[in-house]
Amino acid sequence: TFPLRRYALSCGVKFLEGVLITRLLLQEEQVVGAMGVDTRGQVLVLLAAAVVLASGGLGQLYLRNDNAAGTIGDGYALAYEAGATLMDMEFVQFYPLSLGSGNPAVFYECLLGAGGKLVNKFGEDILARHDLVHPRQLTRDRLSRAMAKEVAEGRGFGPSLLLDLGDISAEKLRVLQPILPKAVRGGRRRYWVAPTAHFQMGGVRINERAETSISGLYAAGEVCAGLHGANRLSGNALTELWVFGSLAGREAARRARETGRVRAAPGLISDEVRRLQKIASSPGEERPELLHRQLKELMWDKVGLIREAPGLQQALEELISLEGRWRRSSVRDGRELQRVLKLGRGLRVSQMICWAALYRTESRGAHYRGDYPEQDDDKWLCNVLLSQKNGDMVLSTEPVKFTQLAPAR
Ligand SMILES: Cc1cc2nc3c(=O)[nH]c(=O)nc-3n(C[C@H](O)[C@H](O)[C@H](O)COP(=O)(O)OP(=O)(O)OC[C@H]3O[C@@H](n4cnc5c(N)ncnc54)[C@H](O)[C@@H]3O)c2cc1C
Repeated sequence: TFPLRRYALSCGVKFLEGVLITRLLLQEEQVVGAMGVDTRGQVLVLLAAAVVLASGGLGQLYLRNDNAAGTIGDGYALAYEAGATLMDMEFVQFYPLSLGSGNPAVFYECLLGAGGKLVNKFGEDILARHDLVHPRQLTRDRLSRAMAKEVAEGRGFGPSLLLDLGDISAEKLRVLQPILPKAVRGGRRRYWVAPTAHFQMGGVRINERAETSISGLYAAGEVCAGLHGANRLSGNALTELWVFGSLAGREAARRARETGRVRAAPGLISDEVRRLQKIASSPGEERPELLHRQLKELMWDKVGLIREAPGLQQALEELISLEGRWRRSSVRDGRELQRVLKLGRGLRVSQMICWAALYRTESRGAHYRGDYPEQDDDKWLCNVLLSQKNGDMVLSTEPVKFTQLAPAR
């Protein structure tokens, strides 16, 4: 990241640190910029003929996650509120071998093929118990679900299982060094591990030029949908960033050059200022960090690795109740205003995941329905589209277009 930043600075790119984008400005169905708020609560208006959304994922909606603080899904909600189409929001990837909440260190699955063992509290081998010994079976979703089942059925060490690297030879460990968390380099060989929310495959729908369904709005990176289907393969997120980041940048630059200066109607700006002022002056008593914790627990329990209709419906009801409490959040300063605004967006995005997960009545890739455990290609070889119509969240399907290879029937 640092060389890229240095290069951008050398090209004259201006960075606005600590600014939270709160609204995309839309006029006559075209993007004309964005508005934001800084850590002192000052409102900023950024006029632009093209906007590239590169706001990352949503892992912080889940109790256990390895995402950076604040990665709560702002971008999905910003795009949705602007009227963009989103796709496949039900496909949240969980990474099986993580060290724990707040600790971004993960162990690559290949360690299990290299002699590492994952065992439950009775010392039983998890791969053997769940028919995951063959490397082709050992996908992130299958291993994560197997681990969740072990824990749910009382065979875990609390919420974790034990990863034992003791049988990997010193020679092999030396070769694997570059992909091992720092702790292993210190000589420790046994770790408590558990699945963690890691990556969102769904997101804003883009075309091959990184354009969203809104004129002037481009998107790149984890906030986009489509490239990884229902389940991302290791290493492909960064490839996506480079390819679509560069496409989005080029297209946005071209559009900005061709369009020239843009203006925003004063009413457009004052609406958002009023909304922000209303939230900033809320005399409420609800603490945003407590609400966020409750949201994460809810998403983990009901919209996590194994989903079922009753749990998803309950989650939707609880999200409405959390949203009601969110409206009574206390805001003491600019930083807290940013936290509250982000949390509001997180609640909206959680609803998207819930609705999409309820809608897709099958299991596919990272989306597993305990009440529909099979993949159903007859009915569900399609993307789930999600957008806002007259204030409602509307879902529909569109068949997947196969350009090279279609799955065997
Ligand atoms: C622990 C871990 C290990 C990983 N390992 C790999 C790997 O080995 N290979 C691989 O391919 N992928 C890996 N990934 C996935 C990959 O790193 C991410 O998908 C990728 O970094 C996302 O990049 P991004 O630019 O889309 O978003 P980010 O890097 O998350 O950047 C988004 C930025 O937008 C900012 N932002 C968000 N909302 C707003 C707002 N409203 N206003 C202002 N700013 C905002 C955020 O603060 C952040 O700076 C890993 C992910 C994790 C968490």
